[in-house]
Amino acid sequence: MRYVSTRGGMAPQTFTQILLGGLCPDGGLAVPEHYPQISAAELADWRKLSYADLACVVLQKFCDDIPVADLKALCAKTYTSAAFRTDAITPVKTLAPGLHILELSNGPTLAFKDMAMQLLGNLFEYVLAKSGGQLNILGATSGDTGSSAEYALRGKRGVNVFMLSPQGKMSAFQTAQMFSLQDANIYNIAVRGVFDDCQDMVKAVNNDAAFKASQNIGAVNSINWARVAAQIVYYFRGYFAVTKSNDEQVAFAVPSGNFGNICAGHIARMMGLPIARLILATNENNVLDEFFRTGRYRVRPSSQVAQTSSPSMDISKASNFERFVYDLVGRDGALVKTLWSKVDAGGEFNLAGTPYFANVQEYGFVSGSSTHADRLATIRRVYQDYGVMIDTHTADGFKVGLEHRQPGIALICLETALPVKFAETIREALGRDPDYPPGCEKLESLPQRFEVMDADADAVKAYILRNTGR
Ligand SMILES: *Cc1c(COP(=O)(O)O)cnc(C)c1O
Repeated sequence: MRYVSTRGGMAPQTFTQILLGGLCPDGGLAVPEHYPQISAAELADWRKLSYADLACVVLQKFCDDIPVADLKALCAKTYTSAAFRTDAITPVKTLAPGLHILELSNGPTLAFKDMAMQLLGNLFEYVLAKSGGQLNILGATSGDTGSSAEYALRGKRGVNVFMLSPQGKMSAFQTAQMFSLQDANIYNIAVRGVFDDCQDMVKAVNNDAAFKASQNIGAVNSINWARVAAQIVYYFRGYFAVTKSNDEQVAFAVPSGNFGNICAGHIARMMGLPIARLILATNENNVLDEFFRTGRYRVRPSSQVAQTSSPSMDISKASNFERFVYDLVGRDGALVKTLWSKVDAGGEFNLAGTPYFANVQEYGFVSGSSTHADRLATIRRVYQDYGVMIDTHTADGFKVGLEHRQPGIALICLETALPVKFAETIREALGRDPDYPPGCEKLESLPQRFEVMDADADAVKAYILRNTGR
């Protein structure tokens, strides 16, 4: 399996060649040259597999330059009941006949990003051990991604994590999750500023090419291909959990921000998994919903991004969306390059009226959005009708999922975080505190370890140099 760029300007690469990289040299995203097709016999076999074994057979299709025995060991080490607090890893809750929640938030940081990030941590350690390399991950976070990366990379050989967050701007629970880590390779940096200041510092460091190269600065952002690949697995798993035979169709409702989660669903469908619909849900920040309804992709300036009660979906542009558009326009890299030259210049493109946009339905996509009031109503309704507490992001998916539900087709709503991470909105909706999962009750009283810094890229460079000793 080789990888090419969505903008057509990269010589084909192997999986391990693109694993540690970010954008392709031409500014595009790495995608497989073709999607592997799953035979009926394979699909029948896969139904019986454990999560770790399923992950291995799915990922084997995409990373054939890692020996199968090694990949199997990496998956077995990653998808354990110890890390995901359940043998099923992603159990399904059935609320009513044909209406299900696929639990993706049982990992260490209680959000679905752990599903991929936990594997990524082990993959990084594996390839760095082989190459003898050392990697310094530098990132900015306002919550879920940073903590998920830290829990995936804590204690890993060959990797340090420098994570910038806006001081005092994350929830108490999210702050405690990150700052309570005592691992020597995890560096939490609380920046006197807002999230955009943190992101600007990361950009400034990356723009210093000499520093970046000498310190092996890397990233684990949502465009990383291995993260998308690892997420394909749970679409298969969810399908098997709610169907009895492989001729049944299902629909998935996916709370979406950067389009990473639902991109994995799109690929599972392209591989031949019988998915009738991929139901994309946004909150008030509806760039993606707007595209799927109208054909217009209109990136917003960050000043126009609303701060909502499903904050992990508060995005101005969807960084993985280019991967889908590449397929939608018949894998025409030159065309993608033209479209994104407009997007990258802060503009927009419109596919309405083109044959490409007419294909959206063939790809199974439908969409919708929700508001804060919708989230409160959905959280209340699911709690009252089924006795199940869902978080604000899952509620966005649930609401839009029901709007597009089809008779006779099971609907699987993806759970992307646990309610405890967004306690304030749960209290507003239900008048009570969310349940704490076992082991998390004391998190907020643990000692915290972090460095406070001004919003200054030179300060973070000096800090990295001091701590890596180069
Ligand atoms: C990251 C995140 C999302 C959005 O997922 P994308 O892959 O960016 O579309 C939704 N919900 C939660 C809780 C998240 O952390």
